[in-house]
Amino acid sequence: MTSPGPGARWRNWSALAESTPRQVLTPATTGEVVDAVRRARESGTTVKMTGTGHSFTPIGAPEHTWLRPDALTGIVEVDRSAMTVTARAGTRLHDLNLALERLGLSLHNMGDIAEQTLAGAVSTGTHGTGGVAAGLSAQLAGMELVTGTGEVVRASATENADVLDVARVGLGALGVLTTLTFRVEPLFVLEAHEEPMTWDRALATYDEMVATAHHVDMYWFPHTDRALVKQNLRTDLDPGEQQPPGRLAAWWEDELLSNRVFGAVVALGNRRPEAVPAINRVAARALSERRYTDLAHRVFVSPRRVVFREMEYAVPRDAGLDVLRECRRIIDASDWRIGFPVEVRHAPADDVPLSTAHGRDTLYLAFHTARDADHTAYFAGLEPVLREAGGRPHWGKLHSRTAADLAPSYARFGDVLAMRDRLDPDRVLTNGHLRRVLGD
Ligand SMILES: Cc1cc2nc3c(=O)[nH]c(=O)nc-3n(C[C@H](O)[C@H](O)[C@H](O)COP(=O)(O)OP(=O)(O)OC[C@H]3O[C@@H](n4cnc5c(N)ncnc54)[C@H](O)[C@@H]3O)c2cc1C
Repeated sequence: MTSPGPGARWRNWSALAESTPRQVLTPATTGEVVDAVRRARESGTTVKMTGTGHSFTPIGAPEHTWLRPDALTGIVEVDRSAMTVTARAGTRLHDLNLALERLGLSLHNMGDIAEQTLAGAVSTGTHGTGGVAAGLSAQLAGMELVTGTGEVVRASATENADVLDVARVGLGALGVLTTLTFRVEPLFVLEAHEEPMTWDRALATYDEMVATAHHVDMYWFPHTDRALVKQNLRTDLDPGEQQPPGRLAAWWEDELLSNRVFGAVVALGNRRPEAVPAINRVAARALSERRYTDLAHRVFVSPRRVVFREMEYAVPRDAGLDVLRECRRIIDASDWRIGFPVEVRHAPADDVPLSTAHGRDTLYLAFHTARDADHTAYFAGLEPVLREAGGRPHWGKLHSRTAADLAPSYARFGDVLAMRDRLDPDRVLTNGHLRRVLGD
């Protein structure tokens, strides 16, 4: 286990959270994680493994011992009869996707980037969009974790099933995850159809699109009537038969428009907020319709080089579009100047106790500002509407909720707290953010 010594600084991707842990360790084995947890427990301090810091909140902020994920990587087992793959918890999604591609396998669904570690992504309930297992945690079949008392627990449907049930979204509060087992399927090809639409058409056809496309991702440009809708359909094409966008087209849409020009547009909007509505109108029109086919993981994921701040709420699917309309009404009536699109995704109900889609079909509404912009009025102005609609905030994104008012949002919140008392009775795995959202 390497240790760069004391004084290293931890900071998240959005630079909204940072901490200075007392020591930094990079465990390469489960045994080294056990040692670190036991030592922390004996000395009455805390220990926290981080992912890549892509959570916007300080949920991953280490206070005493920081366990870096970098040496706990790689695939450990492929079970083709069970169609599962087990990987070490610090593996990045990007690396898992490439390894699965070489094996002719794929996750069912994922979010829109793949920079995160597997453990970091599942711990906060990272999700994509679509009718098939939108949340990564719902695709888990097993895990190994080191509890706050330093015990190694293997959990699956047949062994410690109660631990697996709850720890699929564990917020880092139930144990240090060391391996994760995902259900997989044969590598598949998606057809992507990106289409600019008016707000009215996008909302009027949303239900129909969700019923026909497997994955629908909608972006509405505030201060305009424009939206961009991406629909992904599963195809019968064999891997190798896909026709991805040419390199120039991919560079134009994904790199130039979505990152470089967008970055410049955001910077301009920061300097001249009064110009944001006009900028949004131009930006919304710059994106054009396109269709292409590609391996699923390449269609799901896009490069995101413009740093932003985000709040995302999961609201019940039935009420979701009305909640979106109300959010638009508030934005239109405000003097905010919002340079980032509002993203709308959907997910089927799942059975993961702390999943934001637990027990109900869900619409996700995500609000962003530039890294340098003050997000507080915008997010605080919309949060009451989202909360009133029974919304649940994404565990890795900005929100103002606390344990007391999150508890009624989750039917099994009490089971999670009981599991925390069992697996981490001395709160060796806690930090300030967990005290806020789960209690002491
Ligand atoms: C550009 C960008 C795009 C995003 N896109 C999406 C998206 O499409 N969908 C979505 O739902 N979310 C999205 N997110 C949010 C992101 O997926 C989550 O915040 C995720 O938790 C980040 O993973 P990470 O590896 O960076 O983990 P971190 O943020 O570093 O940590 C998250 C939590 O996991 C815990 N953790 C990490 N490793 C372990 C371990 N081994 N054992 C136990 N606990 C551990 C940490 O302690 C912490 O509590 C996005 C974020 C960004 C910045």
